[in-house]
Formats: sequence, structure tokens, C-alpha cells
Amino acid sequence: MLSNIFASLDRLLPVGRFALGRFVLGQVALAVPLTALAALSAEAIEINVSPTSPQLGDTINLLIHSEADTAPVVSTGDRTYPSFPVGPDRYRALIPTTPLETPGARTFSVTDELGDQASLNVNVGDRDFPIQDIWLSPEINAIEGTDYEFDRVEAFRAEVTPDRLWTGSFLAPSNGSISTPYGVRRYYNGEWADDYYHRGLDYAAATGSPVYAAADGIVGLVDYEANGFEIHGNTIGLNHGQGVTTMYLHLSEIYVREGDRVRAGETIGAVGATGISTGPHLHWGFFVHGEAVDPRDWQSQGIK
Ligand SMILES: [Zn+2]
Repeated sequence: MLSNIFASLDRLLPVGRFALGRFVLGQVALAVPLTALAALSAEAIEINVSPTSPQLGDTINLLIHSEADTAPVVSTGDRTYPSFPVGPDRYRALIPTTPLETPGARTFSVTDELGDQASLNVNVGDRDFPIQDIWLSPEINAIEGTDYEFDRVEAFRAEVTPDRLWTGSFLAPSNGSISTPYGVRRYYNGEWADDYYHRGLDYAAATGSPVYAAADGIVGLVDYEANGFEIHGNTIGLNHGQGVTTMYLHLSEIYVREGDRVRAGETIGAVGATGISTGPHLHWGFFVHGEAVDPRDWQSQGIK
């Protein structure tokens, strides 16, 4: 019996052409309840992770082999994430990480409708994000934003639609150069901003410069400073499907409407300085299940 169990556990080991993550076999074994051990067979779940050594801010990409007919759910900590089919018996889940998290081990548990379970430990590496001192005038510092804009933005970023609309790498949304990178931490007027990190990339460009859709998507949010978008300014949000969204802030002009289907590279607006902005630039945010992640992997190699 024991040898059978261990022979079955071997099947939990990630195999094939996908990069292997860091995992601890002993803990994988411990994480599988006895009820699931009985069910272990050729149908057992396999999990592969990329990148193999993620750092804070990266998107963790879990490829799951399961013979279940419905997509398995991934749980980690107190959150669960959906997966989506990517091929026969294959599903993919995207897990965001952010600079506000503590680096170290994450355990991902996958359960499918057949009752099969598997766990994988992934180490999320620390990363030094640049620190800036920002001094705002009392008038600017007093702007807190409106419930209207926060509620609208939160609802938009919570959208998870099943179809994957993007293909390949995400394009740069502006021809400008990056003036503030992802993840920067800040002191505002000398006070450390605990919950703050720069949730996107800033592209410096002149007012009126084109802003491009970074990938195919559906316009899920359009709103204006005049309606109460005090902080974001004139804003576009694109839904790329499966929990991936991008946002375009501080625009001077918006050329699309909610519900429009847009193509990668299409001009959707123009750079501006609406909302809280010290000068014309595009703030571009990249979100996975509502969390702002570093788009670097999405821009360089794409995540299929
Ligand atoms: Zn910004």
C-alpha cells in the first residue's frame, strides 16, 4: 500500500517541457489528505509553475493537469483563484503578487471536481523597489478622491470573464519613455505611505500623444474627472479576460466607449494631466484579479 502511495505521489511531480518550480516533496505528501490518497491514480493533478523563481510583483502562472471536466480552483492563504482551460485536461491559473506582501513560501492547493488534490510550494523572492520622496502642495495633498471613482474602479477590476482576449505579448501603451517604474514605494510629505506602491508604469509624453490598447480587450470602464474621477482623471479600463485588466489614467481625450471591442495597438485616447498629476503623462496599470502586478513578463514574453 505504502509503495503504491509513493508511486502515485511520483505522479504529482511536475514533468514535461514546462519549467519546474521549487517545491518540497515531503510537504507535498503532507498536504495531500488521506481521502485524496485513495483516489490518486493516473488522473492525479499535476501542477507546473512559471516563472520558476518569481519575485514580488510577478504574476505566478500555474499550469494544471486535471481530468476533471470543470476547471479546478486554486487556493492560497485566504484567497481562491479560478483556472481556465488551455487544452485537453489542462488548465491555467494566474496568481498576482505585490510589493506589499511578505516574501517567502506560498502554498498553492488545487482541488478538482473529481476530488483530486495537489499542493505546490513556490518561493516568492524579495525585490528592492525604489523609494521616492514626494512633496505635494497642501491643496493637492488634501484631495482624497471620491467614493464614486473608487467604487467604479474596484468593480471594474473585479471583473473576471472566461474568454482570453489577449494573444502574445502586451504592447507598450505609449511611445513615451518610462518615468516611474512599477513598485516604487513613497514618502508623501515626509510620511511613509504604508499601503502605497506605484501600481503601474508612468510614461512621459506630451499632452495629446496617442495612448494605445496594450492588447485586445473590451472597454470595461470609461469615466471622467468631471464626473468625480478626482484622482484618476479621465480613465479607460480594458478587460482582457480571465481576470486580466489594464487601466489608462490622466487622459486628455478618450476615443472609446464602454462595451467597445478594441484591438492591440489601437489608439484609444490621448495623454493628459487630468486627475492628480504633476504633469502630462500616462499612468498605465496592469491588474491580475484586481491586484496591480509588474507587467514586465507580460510585455517581454507574454503569458499565453
Ligand atoms: Zn503613475
